[in-house]
Amino acid sequence: MDCAEVQRLGESLAPYCDPGIRAVLAELLKAKSPLTARQIAERSGVGAVEEALSRLSGVVRVAGTSYGTVARSTGDTRFYVKLSCPFCGSQDLEREELVEHTGCGYVGRLSDFRAKDGSLRCPRCGSPVDGPSLRSIGFWYECNGCHQTFPRPNISLIGADSGSEVSPEQLEPVKEVSYALSEEAAPAVRELLGLLGRLEGVASSRGYAVSWRFRLTGKSGVLHEFCMGLDGGGSRVLVDLVICGDPPRVLRSVTKAFDASAELPVILLIAPEVEDAALRVLMSAAITGLRARIITSGDPSDLPALLERALADGFPSPSAGREAQGPQAGPSRGRAPGRGELGYKPPPAIGAA
Ligand SMILES: [Zn+2]
Ligand SMILES: [Zn+2]
Repeated sequence: MDCAEVQRLGESLAPYCDPGIRAVLAELLKAKSPLTARQIAERSGVGAVEEALSRLSGVVRVAGTSYGTVARSTGDTRFYVKLSCPFCGSQDLEREELVEHTGCGYVGRLSDFRAKDGSLRCPRCGSPVDGPSLRSIGFWYECNGCHQTFPRPNISLIGADSGSEVSPEQLEPVKEVSYALSEEAAPAVRELLGLLGRLEGVASSRGYAVSWRFRLTGKSGVLHEFCMGLDGGGSRVLVDLVICGDPPRVLRSVTKAFDASAELPVILLIAPEVEDAALRVLMSAAITGLRARIITSGDPSDLPALLERALADGFPSPSAGREAQGPQAGPSRGRAPGRGELGYKPPPAIGAA
């Protein structure tokens, strides 16, 4: 993973933990050409696509604008044209070209000029005619129902999706913006989505249900957001992710993990390794006794395996540091966690779509 690329994704990776954002990005990654918000919504199943796109301003670019038509009453944006007789409404119509023989001035239907042997001959003067001696003067319709002739049939529009007739007064012009991933951000987006998918896979394989973008008020009273809240076996673990973060960003995440760990155990995944000496001291010193596990790796692709191990190891309970808290606690760690521990609460509503 190229850190310069990942840093283009913005200050926080939290938005990318949102399933709606990820679904939108996955469609943009797959698409060979720019997509309109409507196409993204249809393909991703995400309702509030515009909102998701507005939060991805540095990653998604406006690729162009197209102009179309919508009938709001039926929702149609594509239409078929239906021709019908203005007298009886029949659609059984014939269309004929009217031509003038410039040699003699005779005006008639082109079919009247066609002789039995297939050649073209003027019905009035009988002389053979060719393209240059025939002047087109328009078209004529004949109804096979009522045999009326008329220069212009009734034209009506049929919505391609609804199949309903739409009058021209129902049509509204629409302007649609199309979106594409910025070329610079696409590789990092692809890597990050892959990593998040693998982290989710690890959590699921260990029996946890994942709540993305989990919000929790820490001991300080500050509301924090974590990439994932994992629920399994009556306990909950928060997971957060710092990829290619600079020291201030890592520090903010570590502080957040400590603050929240008074409420729930936290696993903080950091890659690559933190070089800042003061930060390393803080990270190692403060872990003891806190239910915050800070896992660093030189390679982000190792993080899923490290998360799996951390979930297997579990957490010390706040009252008795010896005991395990993870639902998959190792055999030497003793009992399974109970509902009464750690301020277990039923899952709060998550804002994610
Ligand atoms: Zn008719
Ligand atoms: Zn003629």
